[in-house]
Amino acid sequence: MKSNSRAKQPISVFWFRRDLRLEDNRGLFEALNSEFPVLPIFIFDTNILEELENKADARVQFIQQQLVRLQNQFRKRQKGMRVFHDTPIRAWQQIVKEYNLKSAFTNRDYEPYAQQRDKEIYEFLQEHNIKFKGYKDQVIFEKSEILTQQNEAYSVFTPYAKNWKSSVTKSSFKHYKSEELLQNLLTTETEIPTLQDIGFTTSKITVPDYSISASHIKDYKKQRNFPAIDGTSKLSPHLRFGTISVREVCRKTKDVSEAFLNEIIWRDFYSQVLYHHPKVVTENYREKYDAVKWRNNEKEFQAWCDGKTGFPIVDAGMRQLNQTGWMHNRLRMITASFLCKDLLIDWRWGEAYFAKHLLDYDLASNNGGWQWAAGTGTDAAPYFRIFNPTSQLKKYDPEQRFIKKWLPEYGTDDYPDEIVNHKEARERTLTAYKTAIN
Ligand code: FAD
Repeated sequence: MKSNSRAKQPISVFWFRRDLRLEDNRGLFEALNSEFPVLPIFIFDTNILEELENKADARVQFIQQQLVRLQNQFRKRQKGMRVFHDTPIRAWQQIVKEYNLKSAFTNRDYEPYAQQRDKEIYEFLQEHNIKFKGYKDQVIFEKSEILTQQNEAYSVFTPYAKNWKSSVTKSSFKHYKSEELLQNLLTTETEIPTLQDIGFTTSKITVPDYSISASHIKDYKKQRNFPAIDGTSKLSPHLRFGTISVREVCRKTKDVSEAFLNEIIWRDFYSQVLYHHPKVVTENYREKYDAVKWRNNEKEFQAWCDGKTGFPIVDAGMRQLNQTGWMHNRLRMITASFLCKDLLIDWRWGEAYFAKHLLDYDLASNNGGWQWAAGTGTDAAPYFRIFNPTSQLKKYDPEQRFIKKWLPEYGTDDYPDEIVNHKEARERTLTAYKTAIN
């Protein structure tokens, strides 16, 4: 490539992160509407990748596949994206050195690491007189858009959801037609690194397709709690990586199922909890539970991870997670409750395990889900409400179709005995929580 001619042409950059799509992409739309040709970039952030223990991580593979898909769409138009494998600051130093960069665009990310990273990049670009503009794209309402009458962040979902719904205007679900402006991309030739180039290998686990057709979603309320039924959307990894716009999801489903829209609102809710209370990453949302004395038995933790607790609904859920990277929401609640309340293991252990294995791992929703299960979070189920894994099985997998699918040895001598007595474990937990808060 001829770096001299490049150096002269003023350009803008659009930085893809959790928004790996060309359609209805707000930040990309704004970039393409700006003054200069746009170079799209993605950074395989070595700060993040180095933390991943599994070098056959299905999420890294999914990202790489999405970049190839985007690149194919760019190539049809003699355009291309630059992909870096570096720390973000070094990648941006490189861009500023190579190009005549005038402005940079991105969609906002609310996780503490991302906020810190973006601040660093903002300051770096500012030193070079380059504007860095962020847009809301990942959620419908962000930051402090939905507050209580006292101007505080909500800590309970129901009033938040009510306010969310009454705050929706025409523009909330607007379609930003970035896909119609691709002629404004920079004409260039680029290559996408392979998985091997960035130190990873292929995974057998793949991200399933989602379904938000009206025929699928209309029975959501009736079907969503039964893991043997394919009654949910499987949208979560797609919303996580932005291969679909959340506004599009709302446009398509808002008049089909209110129960479904409520789940999308949970996602916004947890995003704003994390934004306003970044301490939840490591600490209880409700401090009064800080004194709970977790047992943290490593052998029992391992049995839980492996799906060998002897409680079929827990084990089937964990094996679904281990083998597919996805777990049904009902089972996430049951397995999380079992870890915290039956085994009295710190929710942070379970959260970290889910973070490693979930294709849809999202800090805000995962942390929210775990703190809910532990009773330490927003909307906390009172600590004395403890799921009974046996009655949950009867209620949500009455024909045992789900457990039999995931536990081939169920009903034989090879299936493990229960590692705890639920009734005794329940009493133990009630005592531990009561002691902590008194
Ligand atoms: P659907 O039921 O079809 O819901 C549609 C979308 O709504 C989901 O894709 C998701 O984006 C959102 N949603 C649904 N339920 C919730 C919820 N309770 N909280 C926040 N958003 C929700 N979800 C994640 O996306 N990433 C996580 O890391 C994650 N960890 C969880 C951990 C625990 C302990 C629990 C109890 C829940 C967790 N969830 C997480 C929420 C939920 O289980 C998944 O979003 C859902 O199972 C994904 O399947 P789906 O796309 O078919 O969901």
